[in-house]
Amino acid sequence: MHKISRDTFVYAMSPDNKPAIYVEPGDQIEFETWDALQGQIKSADQGFDELDWSCINPATGPVFINGAEPGDVLTVKIESIDVEDTGVVLCGKGMGVMGDFLSDTRTKIVNIEDSIAHFSDNIKLPLNKMIGVIGVAPESGEIPCGVPDVHGGNMDCKEVREGATIMLPVYVPGALLALGDLHAVMADGEIGVSGLEVSGTVRVTVDLIKQKAYPLPMIENDEYIMTLASDEDLDKASDMAVANMVKYLTEFESVNEFDAVMLISLIADVRICQVVDPKKTVRVEFPKKYLC
Ligand code: CA
Repeated sequence: MHKISRDTFVYAMSPDNKPAIYVEPGDQIEFETWDALQGQIKSADQGFDELDWSCINPATGPVFINGAEPGDVLTVKIESIDVEDTGVVLCGKGMGVMGDFLSDTRTKIVNIEDSIAHFSDNIKLPLNKMIGVIGVAPESGEIPCGVPDVHGGNMDCKEVREGATIMLPVYVPGALLALGDLHAVMADGEIGVSGLEVSGTVRVTVDLIKQKAYPLPMIENDEYIMTLASDEDLDKASDMAVANMVKYLTEFESVNEFDAVMLISLIADVRICQVVDPKKTVRVEFPKKYLC
């Protein structure tokens, strides 16, 4: 298995990033990752105002996948996510959905033990470990790791978890996959601006689907095929994610467009991933058992 230390990271996805390693399709890779704040918060006394905002959302990588060419689909199967035993959650003035309401900021250090996050003496939360940032280089320029878009990035989607396969577009030779920003616990919306941010280790298997025009990014797990879209406007992100699912069903599953719209209306949940990043992200979850 290939391994990449968290000392090798990027703050932006870009075709100009130097590859950390070169791998073959079918290879397994272990990424060691920083939390989204790159370990800057070590105690509950530290708040947003003490953060160095130039050191936010590091993504480990990038990985050059040999043979990946523009027009291919990069598939990333998430084999395992292991998190460290301490996470950080923050909220406060000017941050997230309630930023105008809160008068101060708060930081909470949360111990994680035996797959339980100890939020308080009375409140213990089961983990739902997920990858917040996962993406590839855009065709040109650079996209900060904190921004989600068609290339992936900071989608903060809780379905990017163990057992799922995320599909991303390839814009440049090698794709240049990078990931980080693990959350030990996060709900749809991430309304306070942070999940339970945590460092850890992710193992994935990468592969390629050659020259396939899927409406990306997409996620597949045992039960669902999902389309995702991100935009500054939540309504627009929702419309885009639905249109992507219609495109997938009509072009790749032989469903006519009227049946596609009816079926999505009847059985596919439209869910919010997050509403706090520079672009908001929505996903549509279509149950695979209704596809023949
Ligand atoms: Ca994030």
